[in-house]
Amino acid sequence: MPGKNVRIAAPLSADEIKLREELRADVEMLGGQIGERNLIRYSQLNGAVEFIENSFSRVGLQPRRDTYEVNGHACHNLEVEIRGVRPEIVLIGAHYDSVVGAPGANDNGSGVAATLALARRFAGRPTSKTLRLVAFVNEEPPFFQTPQMGSFVYASRCIQHGDKIAAMISLETIGHFSDAPHSQSYPAPGLGTFYPTTGNFIGFVSNVGSRQLLRRALSVFRAQEKLPSEGASLPAFIPGVSWSDQWAFWQHGYPAIMVTDTAPFRYAHYHKPTDTPDKLDYDRFALVVSGMEKVIRDLAAN
Ligand SMILES: [Zn+2]
Repeated sequence: MPGKNVRIAAPLSADEIKLREELRADVEMLGGQIGERNLIRYSQLNGAVEFIENSFSRVGLQPRRDTYEVNGHACHNLEVEIRGVRPEIVLIGAHYDSVVGAPGANDNGSGVAATLALARRFAGRPTSKTLRLVAFVNEEPPFFQTPQMGSFVYASRCIQHGDKIAAMISLETIGHFSDAPHSQSYPAPGLGTFYPTTGNFIGFVSNVGSRQLLRRALSVFRAQEKLPSEGASLPAFIPGVSWSDQWAFWQHGYPAIMVTDTAPFRYAHYHKPTDTPDKLDYDRFALVVSGMEKVIRDLAAN
């Protein structure tokens, strides 16, 4: 579903500027002050837990730890729920761990910062469906796509509880954009023929089964007309398609999509010590999040 090439058409609104500064502050905390956070940097991982919990609490939400153990270490997925009048759930999630050796500003400080910004915007304003915001642990290797991946543990517990997840949106590395020619590459050779070779868009990715959800999200996002977007429903075996927490929800039969700047196919600092807060484009990052607020509002309505 290639999109038309819209540029940032207008300057950011006052709300978008406020959002941009929230995102910047939270990315600087996660990818700057806290830095690398994983089981090897366990105290930093827990520093991130406290930071996320405090951020949720400050807007009147009650974070809950969903805990499991890996090699004797307690690992926590963190969730808040904004109960709607209906039991169906729209779930927004981002992993808060970073890969070994990287401070993870974009991957995935950006996704967590977006989740926190969305929590501030929906707290106290329930939608028809129930909204759940979740920060996942242990997305990165060696847990990636194993039963110890945080989102896998979480999704299997959702099945046990009978949770009706109508839509899951995985926010994965969403802050880097480039207007340089040939700044965008693709996992399969043919895709560059249909999609732009300039990395100035936000990507929406799903497996074939979640195609309808992808189309709906894209159409609402595109109404904003401020930031180019591209969408693709592809077989999950194509490299990159299943490379985040949406995979865990697909494994449990839930519809899920990933929103991403495409990470390794664009971002030179992906999984590197140089994935620092100064590498993000906060204007365009803010437009991603303001657009996603509208998408979520739509999905969580009747
Ligand atoms: Zn990631």
